[in-house]
Amino acid sequence: MLDFADRWLLLFGVIVNLPVGYFAFRKKSLTFPGGFLAAAIIGFTLFIVHPIQWLILLIFFSSSSVLSKYNSGNTFKQEAMKFAEKGGTRDVIQIFANGGVAFIVAVSVLYGSGLLYQQLDAPLMVLIVSSFAAANADTWATEIGTTSRINPVWILDPRKRVPRGTSGGVSIKGTIGSLIGSLVIAVFYVVFIAINNQSLDARFFPLIIIITFLGVLGSFIDTLLGATVQAKFQCPSCVKTTEKRFHVHNEKVDTNHTGGLKFFSNDVVNFVSIASASLTVFLIL
Ligand SMILES: [Zn+2]
Repeated sequence: MLDFADRWLLLFGVIVNLPVGYFAFRKKSLTFPGGFLAAAIIGFTLFIVHPIQWLILLIFFSSSSVLSKYNSGNTFKQEAMKFAEKGGTRDVIQIFANGGVAFIVAVSVLYGSGLLYQQLDAPLMVLIVSSFAAANADTWATEIGTTSRINPVWILDPRKRVPRGTSGGVSIKGTIGSLIGSLVIAVFYVVFIAINNQSLDARFFPLIIIITFLGVLGSFIDTLLGATVQAKFQCPSCVKTTEKRFHVHNEKVDTNHTGGLKFFSNDVVNFVSIASASLTVFLIL
C-alpha cells in the first residue's frame, strides 16, 4: 500500500505538470493530444522517480524552445531547416525519440526500487540525465550549427563541404553548441543535487564530466548515423536532397528514396544515438 508521503508525491507529480502542460499548449510546442499526452506521462514518471529528473526534463524542454525561438530569424538557419523533417511543434514520435530512453529507464527504476530513488549518482540515474544531455547536445548543435556562415564539412570526408542542415555535416559552431548543450544539463544536475543535499559534495563533481561526455558522444553518434544509415530523399520537383518524405511546392509532391535505410528516419537516428551513448555509462560507472 501507498503511505501518506507516497500519495503526496503522486499528487504533486500531477499538479506540477499542469502549468507546464498549459504553457506548452499555449506556445504550441506540443501536438494535441499525442505529443501532449506523451510529454505528460514522461513528466509524471520522472517526477515520481525523483523531482530532480523532472527538473532536468524541464531544462531540456525550455532551453531548446528558447534557443529555437531566439534563432528563428537567422537566414542561414531558415535555409537549413528546409532540409529538416519537421517544424517546431513536437509530436508523439519526436517526444519518444528524445525522452523514450529516460522513460524506459525511469519505469525500470520504479519497478525495481519504488518511488523517490535517493541515490542520485547511481548508474541508472546518471543514464537518465545523460540521455537528456545527448538530446540537448543534438538540439543545440542543430540550433547553433545551422547559423554558421560557413557550410559544414562531411563527417566521413572533412575535405568535402555539404549544405547547412545536412545530417552528417559538422561545423565548429555546431560542435561548440553540442558541448554547451550537454554541459548545461550536467551542471544543472550537480547543482540540483547540491541543493537537495544542502551541501556541495566534491564526489559529485566527476558527474559533470561524465554526463557532458556522454551527451557529446550521443551527438557524435547522431551525426555518424545521419551520414550513413539515415534515410535520404530527393524531391522530383526542385531536385533537392531532403529528409522529408514530401515537399510542398504548388501542391504536395512525394519525394523519392535515394539513400540510407528507408525506416531510419531522423527520429530513429535520435533514439538510437541517445540510447547507445547513455548506455555507455555502464562502462564508466
Ligand atoms: Zn522540392
